[in-house]
Amino acid sequence: MKREDLIAPMDYNIVMEMEKHVQHENRKALIWEDEEGRKREITYGQLMKNVNKIGNVFLESELKKGDKLLVMIPRRIEAYEVYLAALKAGIIVVPSSEMLTTNDLQYRISHGEVNGVVSYHTFTEQYKDLHEYDSLIKFAVGRPVDNWYFLDGLMEDSSPRLEVAATTRDDTAFISYTSGTTGNPKGVVHTHGWGFAHLKTAPENWLCVKAGDKVWATAGPGWQKWIWSPFLSVLGMGATGFIYNGRFNAEKYLSLLEENKINVLCCTPTEYRLMAKVDDLSRYQLTHLHSAVSAGEPLNVEVINTFRTYFNVTVRDGYGQTENTLLLGVMKNMEVKPGSMGKPTPGNDVEIIDEFGEPVGVNVVGDIAVRLNSPALFKAYYKDAERTNASRRGDFYITGDQARKDEDGYFWFEGRSDDIIISSGYTIGPFEVEDALVKHPHVQECAVVASPDAVRGSIVKAFVVLKPNVQEEPGQLTKELQEHVKSLTAPYKYPREIEFIKELPKTISGKIRRVELRKKEIERKVSQ
Ligand code: ATP
Ligand code: MG
Repeated sequence: MKREDLIAPMDYNIVMEMEKHVQHENRKALIWEDEEGRKREITYGQLMKNVNKIGNVFLESELKKGDKLLVMIPRRIEAYEVYLAALKAGIIVVPSSEMLTTNDLQYRISHGEVNGVVSYHTFTEQYKDLHEYDSLIKFAVGRPVDNWYFLDGLMEDSSPRLEVAATTRDDTAFISYTSGTTGNPKGVVHTHGWGFAHLKTAPENWLCVKAGDKVWATAGPGWQKWIWSPFLSVLGMGATGFIYNGRFNAEKYLSLLEENKINVLCCTPTEYRLMAKVDDLSRYQLTHLHSAVSAGEPLNVEVINTFRTYFNVTVRDGYGQTENTLLLGVMKNMEVKPGSMGKPTPGNDVEIIDEFGEPVGVNVVGDIAVRLNSPALFKAYYKDAERTNASRRGDFYITGDQARKDEDGYFWFEGRSDDIIISSGYTIGPFEVEDALVKHPHVQECAVVASPDAVRGSIVKAFVVLKPNVQEEPGQLTKELQEHVKSLTAPYKYPREIEFIKELPKTISGKIRRVELRKKEIERKVSQ
């Protein structure tokens, strides 16, 4: 596939991809289940009918093409319906996780100049203190709420026919805020044409979704990963999406995979890691699972080995950002090098470059960068020319992550540029050390950061969460873990300090916030 293949036709709306599947009137689009065991399902035919009704409700309110609508619905079928309805009507979606608090909402609504909101009824309280509360056009889903339109009720009398809006590939479809792992979230502007590029990149070769497959992509609405996989990839390919609205529990997840005969799984590395640590995995028969992928954070080799041993499936890594699409991946039929993120996805020109914007040699660590003319790249950070410009170097967009490329063209993740540790002149990526640590049977999770040191500049410090019921004495365990890392990596990378903690600081999307641990180390050492 070439770059040109990722470019959408000029008149384009991403919802056209989903409408193609309505001809399979009875094919299930979504199957839903919650923690209490309630179930629902919907066919493509019914889904698109509801989409039209909701689109008409929006257009009959004061909302119009080009307006911005913040959507906060948890893992429910209504999330898919509302997103599709807005997009089909040409309304821009501002995705929002239900875990966002009033402050997060205030930031998105003011910064994103949002016109309206759609919220599941259980979260409407969180909007009360917003400056814009009175002027927002507000729709509640699930139950009526005072001073909010009731979407379910309005839908009943609304027409099931709706023409797709006259959007072009350059019209904005989403303003997606980043996870905020390293600072204030950035509003990433994505067009309908970006959606097309994503569909050409990820579903077939990486996720390996075929029409009719049952796909479980666990990301929740409000995150870009939800737009990538459960939303665009599943519905765009005419597959059946499985939705589980419940808390993460490794054993429950494994049972759901078995009971629902899931064919394709897309999870976070943390979810895989915790599943791989469950005792006696041979209890689970995942015979229907033909594809399993991971994205969002580095994938540990240990997970790959465990899933291969017990389930005969190779978990394949993929790398991308809110700002783009899947940039690197271990694609179907590609030889797997465990620990590598794979190669550039078809049509995407991804390179490792130095500080002058020049590609570096084999196995040299540098910045992961994408050529600016890639159709899978975002347009800009919304109203933030400064950060948009800062993300560019010469002909490239700089991801802010570092990696090296080996002699076969496979990319190996080093870390976020800010997370790289420089100790006695050595450059050390935290991931390799973390990967070694989690291989130890007592380690549940860990994070490795730079800690200031008078002699070495920085030293490698590991924060470790132990598995429950570990009895060993901490001093003894520290030595054991240090020896363990030395036996698996170059010895200079071993953590000179280890601190055992109960929990790692994470973003609400579950990513480890090393920035917080690093700050803590600086503060602690300064006060010493
Ligand atoms: P912010 O930009 O607000 O600090 P964020 O970068 O975490 O937040 P996302 O766009 O959700 O927001 O995440 C993209 C980042 O996740 C990448 O830049 C990279 O650091 C990390 N990442 C994604 N996939 C992988 C992967 N397969 N291996 C390692 N890291 C990954
Ligand atoms: Mg980022």
